[in-house]
Amino acid sequence: MTPSSAASPATADVDLERELDAVVVGGGILGLAVARELRRRHEDWRIAVLEREPRIATHQTGRNSGVIHAGIYYAPGSLKARMCRTGAERMVALCERHDVPYERCGKLIVAIERHELDALDELERRGRANGVPGLRRLDGDGLREVEPAGTGIAALHSPATGIVDFGAVAQALAAELTRDGVDVVTDCAVTRIEADRGAARVTHARGVTRARHVVACAGAWSDRLAVASGADVAPRIVPFRGAYLGLRAPARERVRGLIYPVPDPSLPFLGVHVTRRIDGRVLLGPTALLVGARDARRAWSVRTADLRDTLAWPGTWAVGRRWWRTGLDELRMAASPRAFVRACARYLPGLSLADVEPAFSGVRAQAVGRGGDLIDDFVLDRRGPVLHVRNAPSPAATASLALAEEIVDRLADDARYG
Ligand SMILES: Cc1cc2nc3c(=O)[nH]c(=O)nc-3n(C[C@H](O)[C@H](O)[C@H](O)COP(=O)(O)OP(=O)(O)OC[C@H]3O[C@@H](n4cnc5c(N)ncnc54)[C@H](O)[C@@H]3O)c2cc1C
Repeated sequence: MTPSSAASPATADVDLERELDAVVVGGGILGLAVARELRRRHEDWRIAVLEREPRIATHQTGRNSGVIHAGIYYAPGSLKARMCRTGAERMVALCERHDVPYERCGKLIVAIERHELDALDELERRGRANGVPGLRRLDGDGLREVEPAGTGIAALHSPATGIVDFGAVAQALAAELTRDGVDVVTDCAVTRIEADRGAARVTHARGVTRARHVVACAGAWSDRLAVASGADVAPRIVPFRGAYLGLRAPARERVRGLIYPVPDPSLPFLGVHVTRRIDGRVLLGPTALLVGARDARRAWSVRTADLRDTLAWPGTWAVGRRWWRTGLDELRMAASPRAFVRACARYLPGLSLADVEPAFSGVRAQAVGRGGDLIDDFVLDRRGPVLHVRNAPSPAATASLALAEEIVDRLADDARYG
């Protein structure tokens, strides 16, 4: 099973020796959205997106659950809460404009046991404070009206939550950028960004480019690029791999939309859920296993530099001490599809090993503080002409167009952020 419809090669023959108005590092959905926002505000700017892979959208953007989140989970007033709500509206409008298929299939967050009710209450409070449209509280009968195959004692129903292929959205963004004269350059890894007389020198695989503004949206490599460019070492990115299983054809019919558990409120992950995809497939997952490579396609993949950075970071050890039980559950699910299926069968009874097949995985770029805090909110670190996005985990795909507006506002706002 392939993750998404991502991604065709983009522009190759571009002159990067001349001075540009703006360089965006990273051809994921966020970098592409930032480049689009820059073009919308500055018709005459020379702008380039530099992506190190041969194709755009090959990392988180092309390997996720494909959910347009409505904004339930996030602390009211946080960047995530504000950007998710507005971003979801912008995302739907973009899909309409570019004929990218999407659907508002709705979502249930289901409490199975009484001890989960307090956490469900808190999610309801947050959802209402964040202005999630149409949010309803349901009892067991009510949730079965929405998802007849589901079970639980109570649920939150968010009818506005939707699904889309974010890889396809990234393709649409890249096509719009190319049409509007923005160069999207692949096979062009950036190694350093240095301040240079009121502008920045960007060193990359094709040489050096001077730019008046630089935005780095490097996902799982964002800390490494920031540190190489003189920024603080904290927070470090620690990779958490999310694996999915797919439901086989007959079992798919049992699921109408999206079914999520009540998540552990101390973690920024939403728990393994059941997700209908825009192409009709149904996924179980993702897991959240701390791994040894930032592009780990397999649970046991290791890259020496990635493992070294993860192990050398004091925050990693603090995460291990605090969440070792959760880590063991994750290891169990990585080792055994049976344990994985059992986790989903809690709220989709009758699910068995015979119903599932292997699917794909994606690696979350999760920023971790020195003391082991899994940083929840988006983190934007501006230094003069350069802005590093240091944490853009879920729901950053949903929020990307609104977050791009915020980033470009901050670039323009010299008084506050200069
Ligand atoms: C398993 C999983 C499930 C998720 N589910 C959802 C969901 O349902 N809904 C949602 O809204 N969000 C979801 N997310 C989160 C979402 O996918 C990410 O927040 C979003 O894709 C981040 O986009 P990005 O552009 O910052 O990162 P990425 O897509 O990772 O892109 C970063 C890009 O930067 C490039 N790059 C890195 N370093 C360099 C360099 N030095 N030079 C040049 N290029 C570089 C990389 O090659 C990559 O293409 C999920 C994520 C995962 C992993």
